[in-house]
Amino acid sequence: MTQDLHENLRENDDRTESEDLTQWAAREVLRLAEEDYRRGVRFWADPELAARVRDLMKEATAGPGRVQAPRGAVLPAQARVESAARSGPPAAAGMPGPAAPGAGSPGPVSRPASEAGALGPSTSGPPTSGATSGMSTPGTPGAPSKRPVWGAPPAATGRDADWAEQLEALRQEALVCRKCALCETRSQVVFAGGDARVPLVFVGEAPGADEDRQGFPFVGRAGQLLTKIIEAIGLDREQVYICNILKCRPPENRNPAPDEILACGPYLTRQLEILKPKVICTLGLFASQYLLETSEPIGKLRGRWFAYRGIPVMPTYHPAALLRNPNLKATVWEDVQLLRKKLDE
Ligand code: SF4
Repeated sequence: MTQDLHENLRENDDRTESEDLTQWAAREVLRLAEEDYRRGVRFWADPELAARVRDLMKEATAGPGRVQAPRGAVLPAQARVESAARSGPPAAAGMPGPAAPGAGSPGPVSRPASEAGALGPSTSGPPTSGATSGMSTPGTPGAPSKRPVWGAPPAATGRDADWAEQLEALRQEALVCRKCALCETRSQVVFAGGDARVPLVFVGEAPGADEDRQGFPFVGRAGQLLTKIIEAIGLDREQVYICNILKCRPPENRNPAPDEILACGPYLTRQLEILKPKVICTLGLFASQYLLETSEPIGKLRGRWFAYRGIPVMPTYHPAALLRNPNLKATVWEDVQLLRKKLDE
């Protein structure tokens, strides 16, 4: 789409008399995003492109006069786009979001003002060794970061002063747990991944084969998709905490059994008690129904705010469901935008 935009800037400068470059560029981005969506391109799944479009939109919709290019000025297309991307700090802006197939125009979706502009390039990758304990090392001071200004626990979160010790003690307990039959078939316990210091927790249902082998949650194909979902809200995997209801893999990746959830659920309950996250995102039916104590289907739960012990919870589809049905990506995209908005409040 970026290439299309450059070509259109060069060849199709069809601005009206009353339209300045910023307004026209915004219109072009929306039109091209809509075209891409019709062609089946989900640009949000490409973090680099999504960030590029987001930056363009922020600049282009920041108001008249942001890009001072008089009508008819001779600017190479690339330079004009670069000019738009460089001019001043970003402001809150709309971003074209994918609509349901056949729903026509994608339409603008509000984005948090603190996003993207101050956020550096994606640094996501495989889990670090620290992820085993749910901890990771701080970033380099002064280095570009996508992390919002959250402050460090416990002061910013109301956690106990010894929360890290409590979490490690819980992990050690889980690592040798034999409370249900899954201990007989697991390769290893998958306690959590990501950064335990942050206030955003994703909760899935259970480890799969890859997770059982590697000891980290969400490292298979569904995990790669979760990484893209996280990147779609300007974060990376090391800036969230990820865990499951079950800490051991059910054989053949079958659904968690009620007795297994009963046995293992208290680990999740305790994790959340210790972490006191600001926002929880439940992935899929089991995590959503367990935390929200409901039997409603995920299709009715997703995209709505609930509360778990006073903590806002956003249920959405499990990434594995998106692998089976890619049409759900647009829905999840909408859900995680709400998530990021809540996070930035
Ligand atoms: S699934 Fe949970 S309760 Fe069952 S053995 Fe593993 S850690 Fe223990």
